[in-house]
Amino acid sequence: MRIVRSIPELRVALKAVRDSGQSIGFVPTMGFLHEGHASLIRQSTARCDTTVVSVFVNPAQFCPGEDLARYPRDVERDQNLCLRLGVGTLFMPEPAEIYPTGFATSIEVGPMGDALCGRFRPGHFRGVATVVTKLFNLVQPDLAFFGQKDLQQTSIIRRVVKDLNLPVDILVAPTVREPDGLALSSRNAYLSPKVRQTALGISRGLFAAEARFHAGERDPGSLAATVRQELTGMDAIQYCEVVDPLTLDGLTGTIARSAALCVAVLLDGTRLIDNVLLSPSGEATQFISHLESEGQA
Ligand code: AMP
Repeated sequence: MRIVRSIPELRVALKAVRDSGQSIGFVPTMGFLHEGHASLIRQSTARCDTTVVSVFVNPAQFCPGEDLARYPRDVERDQNLCLRLGVGTLFMPEPAEIYPTGFATSIEVGPMGDALCGRFRPGHFRGVATVVTKLFNLVQPDLAFFGQKDLQQTSIIRRVVKDLNLPVDILVAPTVREPDGLALSSRNAYLSPKVRQTALGISRGLFAAEARFHAGERDPGSLAATVRQELTGMDAIQYCEVVDPLTLDGLTGTIARSAALCVAVLLDGTRLIDNVLLSPSGEATQFISHLESEGQA
């Protein structure tokens, strides 16, 4: 595994890979890797000749007052995991490499960036879309892998790829959870055991709503109310909403096609998000790229 920190090094390394005709899979991350990231890396190594992982805590996607300075990091552990998983190139740039002095250009993502998390994290998705586009330009992957855990991010990245004609296919993999249901997240490191118990209400609520959906409930308000019943002890429920997973538009009336039930809470100073897909055809745990072939894009 090659560990590269500079853009010129990355370009040289990947040109050789590309010239040899190998396909490139890419997994962008902010590090402090866990089994959720590992699942994306495995998807990539299974499908592509070589896999590039980036570890970059992107300052542009943190709002003032958020946890940029204390975001958990463990470079050595990340390197070891990538090595074990067969990653070909690990890209670990410093912020100045990605944002040199005078940096001024950003990707505006439109209204999708103002929905859900965007209401509480102004500018967050501009920062995400900008860095992901830059990374796509640097790595030029054939396939890029994202987690359903960050559903809004996947929808926005798909939109950016389509709108800007970026030559990459986006694959979205299911959320990896702890045995008790908690969605894996680097930010779970902030949770004390007691707070973690409270956080379990999120997945419990989502699973209860998912079960009601599979039993025939199709009313978005009623399904969201089922989740809210389990969200006790949170400092704030930022949103709990059923949306179209591709446009992020809130759904009203009867759910007739694939939808996503999305939650964000604040708990002891930590922001936690989670979601479940509600798919009438029962494919909610599969790659959600199938939505496009269903004609819902
Ligand atoms: P992050 O390091 O948090 O920016 O996440 C990097 C990638 O890993 C994103 O595509 C996330 O959606 C994905 N990811 C994070 N947590 C999980 C999880 N529990 N299951 C699956 N993918 C995840």
